Amino acid sequence: MHACRICSNAEGNRTHGVREMYFGTREEFKYLECADCGCLQIESVPENLSQYYPEGYYSLAKPEQKKQPRLLSFLRRQRLRHYLGEKSRAGRLFTKIAGEPHFRPWVKKTQLRSDDAILDVGSGVGTRLLYLEKKGFRDLTGIDPFIEEDIRYDNGVRVFRRHVREMEGRFDFIMLHHTFEHMPDPLPTLRHLHRLLKPERCLLLRSPLTSSYAWEHYRTNWVQLDAPRHLFLHSPKSLGLLADQAGFQLKEMACDATIFQFWGSEQYALDIPLMDERSYGRDPGRSIFSEADIREFERKTAALNDENRGDQACFYLYKACEET
Ligand SMILES: [Zn+2]
Repeated sequence: MHACRICSNAEGNRTHGVREMYFGTREEFKYLECADCGCLQIESVPENLSQYYPEGYYSLAKPEQKKQPRLLSFLRRQRLRHYLGEKSRAGRLFTKIAGEPHFRPWVKKTQLRSDDAILDVGSGVGTRLLYLEKKGFRDLTGIDPFIEEDIRYDNGVRVFRRHVREMEGRFDFIMLHHTFEHMPDPLPTLRHLHRLLKPERCLLLRSPLTSSYAWEHYRTNWVQLDAPRHLFLHSPKSLGLLADQAGFQLKEMACDATIFQFWGSEQYALDIPLMDERSYGRDPGRSIFSEADIREFERKTAALNDENRGDQACFYLYKACEET
């Protein structure tokens, strides 16, 4: 029997056959479910993984950049400073007029500061970084091995064509938005990221979650299994183990699943790929779901996130202090 590549357990593990259903080739891949740490992992990483990322999986089109008027970008920056608890009278005033900036909860939870050096790992062409720049952040770097070449935007955002372990520098905040599950070498990657992060700062890792209703209920039809592109899917226990070995402390986890867990998995159970023309993601009007179905998915998703049983989560990993 195969041993788990995260915790080494070899007792009671199960193997599942999972079909490729994003494009719908239906090629089957074996996944191991660890009976101890709860990690789901592909048994052997396909040799030429890139053939499973054909055009359209992953957006590499460079977004168009409109220049912001200087005054507006000044006011947005001040508003951001006010939002993050830094002193700014102009920011307080602009917030009263224009309202608070819209951010996901992780921006405040990780105690970001407006001058922080931020690294986005697996950034694509940097769409998320460009959004953060528009909101007032200004030290923004991305890395992605699959972009064509390095990109330097006029507003200062830079994106390098690079693997994690080729990256150098020191960052106040590192984030991985649904990229960690695509990496064949999770522990060396996390160890390297630990070196890149400044002490007492946070690494945000967003990824699918196996301790979820969706995995328990849909099993091999769970849409976020995404065989063979997702190589390791974690539980809080398996991610905590990895974090520990890399020198991080996993302090918190918060589910942020969407209704994708329902409509995607329901479709797979009925043999409808994500890219099929009947797919809800392509055209809700032609899909198999009624508006009432979607409302029910929304209700269930909110309840599952409250119980931390949604099918994806934000993991907050902290670096304690410098290695001695
Ligand atoms: Zn394990």
